[in-house]
Amino acid sequence: MKKSIIKPMLSKHLYARNTIDGQIIIRSHELIELESLDNVQVAAMKLMTGEYTTNEIYKFLLSNGYEMDEEELSDLIETLQEYSLVVDQTEIDLNHIISDSSKERYARQISLFSGMTNGYKNAYEIQKKIESSHVAIVGLGGVGSYALYAFAAMGVGTITACDFDTVDLSNLSRQILYHEQDVGKKKVEVAKQRAKEINSQTKYHFFQRQITSTKDLTEIAQGSDIVLLAADTPRGKITHWMNEASYQLSIPFLTAGTSMTTQVCGPLIVPGKTLCFDCSMPEKTLETHPIVQFINQRYEGALIDPYNAIVASLGVLEIMKHLTGFSESRLYNHRYILDLHTLESSFVEIKPKTSRNRCPLCE
Ligand SMILES: [Zn+2]
Repeated sequence: MKKSIIKPMLSKHLYARNTIDGQIIIRSHELIELESLDNVQVAAMKLMTGEYTTNEIYKFLLSNGYEMDEEELSDLIETLQEYSLVVDQTEIDLNHIISDSSKERYARQISLFSGMTNGYKNAYEIQKKIESSHVAIVGLGGVGSYALYAFAAMGVGTITACDFDTVDLSNLSRQILYHEQDVGKKKVEVAKQRAKEINSQTKYHFFQRQITSTKDLTEIAQGSDIVLLAADTPRGKITHWMNEASYQLSIPFLTAGTSMTTQVCGPLIVPGKTLCFDCSMPEKTLETHPIVQFINQRYEGALIDPYNAIVASLGVLEIMKHLTGFSESRLYNHRYILDLHTLESSFVEIKPKTSRNRCPLCE
């Protein structure tokens, strides 16, 4: 008798409008055109606040002269449920899987998840998944500082982050965590303070460390669910070290960074599931020529703040998709490339560069 106790609640993220011919269009995660709703259906939907059971709604309609039998009301609720327009408040009430404080704090993202509950009982389970996740960030520069802010703001349970640098005046143009009074201080010290101010519920581990080997990265990534590689020095080397660490630990990682006006996000490497980084870009093809090494030693990224913000946010989004599955990441075996000069973008499939299907690391 589930239908008699369901407390239907119209999802709060819905936006509705009338067309010129009177049709009601509801914008959820997709546009949904409902067949012309009659006054009785509208009256029933207005009672779907999560306070009343289906039976109570039926009795209210009956006592106010609306002609709708129980089966018609159930059919309406079922239709709305099919489109994820209605959630069952009863199930949510019974499911105290996150705190009331979390329900309030993360209400907007929970509202988003409520229409994308792929395999979950309700949106709170997705929030719970975020709160029990552990993300590691390598590098707290332009991309890493945006990412740390975003992961903390969304309530990721544990965040590990590392950097070796101090805050420089030239960082302030794009590295969101650092303020004028921080110039000269260690980035990890400032980031630790700022992260606690953003979300005191998250557990943090900070490493003051320059990455010089695979071992450095295994120590940082150990225990995490996924790593965002947001550092690019030593150029060419660090991604191969990250790749190796990822395979040693069986922990996925994602690269996100800028190269002039081009933003590159991905591939999202999942050991055992996707090709590894070395498959598409064997290490010997990189950074071996003396002039390449000379130029790269002098390299300083030429960029403006939104470049970091955009590629970091894309990386964070894809990591959240991977961790929770609320939507499927498209970066498995793919890179997303966005040119912020022309606004043209493309997906590039990762293919092995060698004649073998897999490189020695992941075959
Ligand atoms: Zn490989």
